[in-house]
Amino acid sequence: MIPFEEARQHVLDGCAPLAPAARRLDDALGAVLAVDATAPDPVPPFANSGMDGYAVRAADVAAASEQEPVRLRVAGTIAAGAPPDIEVTPGAAVRIMTGAPVPPGADAVVMVERSARVGDHEVDLTQAVPVGLHVRAAGSDVAAGELVLPAGTVLGPAHLGVLASVGLRSPLVVPRPQVGVISTGDELVDDDRPLGPGQIRESNRPTLVAALRAYGVDAVDLGTVADDHDALAAAITEAAAGHDAVATSGGVSMGDFDLVKVVLDEVADMRWMQVAIRPAKPFAFGVLDGTPVFGLPGNPVSSLVSLSLLGVPGLRRLAGRADLDLPRVAAVAGPGLTRRPDGRTAYLRVACRWDGTAFTATPVGGQGSHQLAATAGANGLAVLPDGDGVAEGAEVTVVLLADPFAP
Ligand code: AMP
Ligand code: MG
Repeated sequence: MIPFEEARQHVLDGCAPLAPAARRLDDALGAVLAVDATAPDPVPPFANSGMDGYAVRAADVAAASEQEPVRLRVAGTIAAGAPPDIEVTPGAAVRIMTGAPVPPGADAVVMVERSARVGDHEVDLTQAVPVGLHVRAAGSDVAAGELVLPAGTVLGPAHLGVLASVGLRSPLVVPRPQVGVISTGDELVDDDRPLGPGQIRESNRPTLVAALRAYGVDAVDLGTVADDHDALAAAITEAAAGHDAVATSGGVSMGDFDLVKVVLDEVADMRWMQVAIRPAKPFAFGVLDGTPVFGLPGNPVSSLVSLSLLGVPGLRRLAGRADLDLPRVAAVAGPGLTRRPDGRTAYLRVACRWDGTAFTATPVGGQGSHQLAATAGANGLAVLPDGDGVAEGAEVTVVLLADPFAP
């Protein structure tokens, strides 16, 4: 067996960031910005009103109050999107809408709630406003030439909006990797057919494809391949040619029909590992014509754990990310975080919850590597170093597989 860190490092050594490419904003969520983004123009591009109200000269309303309103002539109306072609002269106001350009002569806005129209051409204003009130200055969000997002930013929703606001609609990014996902095994049925003798329903593809997407990577479901040498060779070679990475599950342990191992050894530069973790001890990683290939174990829980702990860092390196691993939190151990010494680090499936003061980690029932139904109730993996486990109430590290605040 090799230490987990060695396996992880081996994966990282085989994964280099993908070449930057221009991506439309609607395809850039989760991608990593490849270059610094600077604003060519200021945002907002012109001084505009932060309120619906009246653009005024602050000096004109200096004496205004609820008791003694100041009456001004209304010189016109400016809507958002309209040019500011009305001047505010002394004694005048212009009706203005939120986002509309502040017209020349005006230096403040009185909000509509502090006004009362008098006939068609006048307004009483009941508030004295300082210069600049409710005026959003040009460049007050972003100045012209300002660095808005540094290279390396993992683009979230507001980042995409910022890029749009400065007119960068096709930024250069390290694209999200496209991972081809293949299941292997003669026993697997992936349609509605009744099960024949010895058959089971395929479940790794839906799990792994969805997990990859949840972890910020694009996954493509490439189907199930039988335990057949030529079929496997064709499927794996084709997958590697058409994707940034390939993840297979099954066929990498010690069975007589574990042909994925045979095939991968022929077509790729593979390393077969027995990693000192439980579950997910068998794991293979290699490179096929430059494309990283992850040989995940077949057992449903093992394949998910293997992907989460060893697949994710490699795929995130491909994606150009600096945060390579899933997040970890310190939690208070609930009852039952026990194990037997076996030279491996155990990753127990736990429900990790915030109790208002701390995270707590409670094991879900059924820790077998085939017990996916129990694992579905977990959102984390409690890290139990070799030994007898972690005593109730002690601190335990949890790898988060999902949002611990989600219901
Ligand atoms: P293997 O590594 O191919 O020997 O598979 C280990 C165990 O996982 C066996 O019990 C398989 O039937 C099961 N298994 C492998 N692939 C899948 C899959 N895609 N869906 C559900 N179970 C699987
Ligand atoms: Mg198999």
